[in-house]
Parts: sequence; structure tokens; C-alpha cells
Amino acid sequence: MIDREVITPDAQFIRTVKKAGGDTLKKCYQCATCSVVCKLSPNKHPFPRKEMLWAQWGLKDRLVKDPDVWACYQCNDCSKHCPRGARPGDVLAGIRTYTYSNYSFPRFMGKALASPKALPILFLVPIVLLFALMYLSAPLSPAGGFLFLQAGTPIDFNLFLPHHITDAFFVVGNIIIFLFAFVGFWRFWKDLTSTSLNDDFSFRKGLVLTAKEILSHSKFNKCEMNKPRAVAHYLVIAGFVSAFISTGMVFVLIFIPDYIHLSPLWNLPLELPNPVKIFGALGGIGILVGTLWMIIRRWKNRDDVGANGYADYLFLYIIFFTGLTGLLSWLFRWLSGVPLLAYITYFSHLTFVFFLLWYMPYSKFAHMIYRTMALVYLRGKGIE
Ligand code: SF4
Ligand code: SF4
Repeated sequence: MIDREVITPDAQFIRTVKKAGGDTLKKCYQCATCSVVCKLSPNKHPFPRKEMLWAQWGLKDRLVKDPDVWACYQCNDCSKHCPRGARPGDVLAGIRTYTYSNYSFPRFMGKALASPKALPILFLVPIVLLFALMYLSAPLSPAGGFLFLQAGTPIDFNLFLPHHITDAFFVVGNIIIFLFAFVGFWRFWKDLTSTSLNDDFSFRKGLVLTAKEILSHSKFNKCEMNKPRAVAHYLVIAGFVSAFISTGMVFVLIFIPDYIHLSPLWNLPLELPNPVKIFGALGGIGILVGTLWMIIRRWKNRDDVGANGYADYLFLYIIFFTGLTGLLSWLFRWLSGVPLLAYITYFSHLTFVFFLLWYMPYSKFAHMIYRTMALVYLRGKGIE
């Protein structure tokens, strides 16, 4: 007796992937050139031809838990060689966008981050919250107005929004958002491993190989068409690590001693050549240069880089403006002597930081976790 599998196409899934940059997916006629030319596609576990077929049929349930979708770095070597112009690299990127929206918790947030219509409200939330915090916590002058607006008061962000308030706001918010994010990541991991996690799988091996791969960008560097993106991507990652170190130093060496009434190592505001400022400035420069490079390449070489969807652009611009406003707020405080300019830039910076961190599970930012999990799974099973 022949086993039959009932296939349930999901037309909405096809429409969403098309909108997310994969609008060429129906052109594929399954010649498999893409799987042959892809340098990251293992002989015994090839992609992206099968993903193209599944996407055409709307097989959402297979694709959202398919680790191969995440083994692709969108170099678009396959898109260049595809005889039908089906652009498999872009289709896989569209599937990845669908995936983190699909697993996100709560789900409506995934939909909001994928829709340009929701952008004003997504910005309005941090603007209103930060404004309320500023309004309620900024110190007042003896005359009753805000001290930071008083003529002759030196520019000090602590007078605009006290650091311990900003700090508490972001720490509490980040804990909540990481719990939400964890729900999505856990759902993905369960689906990923549901069908074939067996004795062959070694989590430790997968983790070590994945860490090496990410740190060296070894797979990314195999790309031909999109090789410069590996360098730009590296700069952005190094920038984030540097910014993370800088924030961590402030927290551990200044805020925590302050809270427990010990003398902090340094007093705010910090200036160059303080190590916190050096790490922060280097991080900001890395993020700015890397993202600007990627944005310019997307404008100039859309065919090589990929016809990316809204979510890709949104993520790039948010990172870029986070780095830009961070550097400018520091420069304006230091050099401009125009308080309003420094405070508005600082407020914008906090708004972008909020957008980046608190919407992380629903935006392309989450790709770093989804890709890492998929790679751990693949490498842990010996698939390279
Ligand atoms: S995407 Fe292009 S190269 Fe790949 S199987 Fe389809 S037609 Fe062939
Ligand atoms: S975009 Fe690059 S990595 Fe992705 S499937 Fe195509 S050739 Fe392979």
C-alpha cells in the first residue's frame, strides 16, 4: 500500500513571502542550478531548490522549521545563475522574515514589525513613554521650570533624564522583552528538533562549530557576488560587541557601586580618553560604517545584494540611526554648546535604542538567534 501525504498549501504564506522580497518565487522551474552553484549547500543536504518548490506550494509548516533556510547568507550567487530569474536568495530571505514573525510572542507584534502601516505607532510608543519619564523625573529649578532648560546650566543628560531612571526603565523592559523573545525561540527550537533530533546530534559540537563559524565569518566569506557584505556585517557585529562592553562597564563600574553606596570608579559625565567612551565611540563608528556600507550597496547594486523587503530595510535604518544619534548626542553635548540640540538628539537616540531592543524578537534583529539555533542544529548533526 502506498503511503499518501496530504499537502495543505497556505496561500497567505505565499503572499507574505512575496511581499517580503520573494516576489519571484513562482518563476522557478526546478532546474536545480541554484543548489549546484551555492557554495554553502552541502552535497548530501542541498538547498535552495527544495525550498523553492515548497515555497511555490505554500508549504509553510515545512519551511518555518527548515534549518537550511538559515544556512543561507543571501549572497545571491544562486540568483545570478538562475536561468529563470527566480532569485532563490531573496525568496529564502523572505521565508526567514516570515519565520521570526510566525514564532514571535505575542504574534501581533510580529505582524506590526512587518507592516509599514504600523511604523508610526511603533515609534509613538517609545516617544510617549520616554517623554513621560522625562516629564516626571527631570529635576526642577528653584523657579519651577525644568533645570536642563535653565539658561546657563551646563549640558548634562542626567538633568534631562536621570540615569538611574533610564537605567531602571531599560533593565526592567529588557528582562520582560527577553522573556517574550524566549517563548518564540523555544517554539522554533522545538519545531526544528521535532522530526529528527536523534542520537547523532551533539549540542556541544554544534555550539562550538557555530561559534567558530560566526566569529570567523567563514561561510559568509565564501560568497562571490556579495563578498563585501561579509566585511560590513563583521563591522556591525564588532560595533555591537564594543557598545555592549561600554554599556556593561558603565553598569558594573558606575551604577552598581552608586546603588550600593560605594564610590564609583568614575563619575558621570565621562569624556575621552575614558575606556568607556573609547569602547562606545569605536562601537558607534563600527555600526555606522558597517550599516552605511550595506545601505549604499543596496541602493547601488540591488541585483547583487538582493531585492530586500521592508523588514530588511527597516532593521538596517534603525541600526544606522541608533549609531548616528548616539555619536551625535555625545558630540553635541561636548562641542555644540546648544542644549536643545544635544537633548533632542539624545532623546532620539533613546527612542531608536528602545525600538532596536524592545522590538528585537519581532524584527530582523532576531535573525542572529534564529540563525544561531539552526546552525547549532545542523552542525550538531554533522551537516556542514
Ligand atoms: S530557483 Fe532558479 S536555479 Fe533554482 S531550481 Fe528554480 S529555476 Fe532553477
Ligand atoms: S543566496 Fe547564496 S547562500 Fe543562499 S542559497 Fe543562494 S547561493 Fe546559497
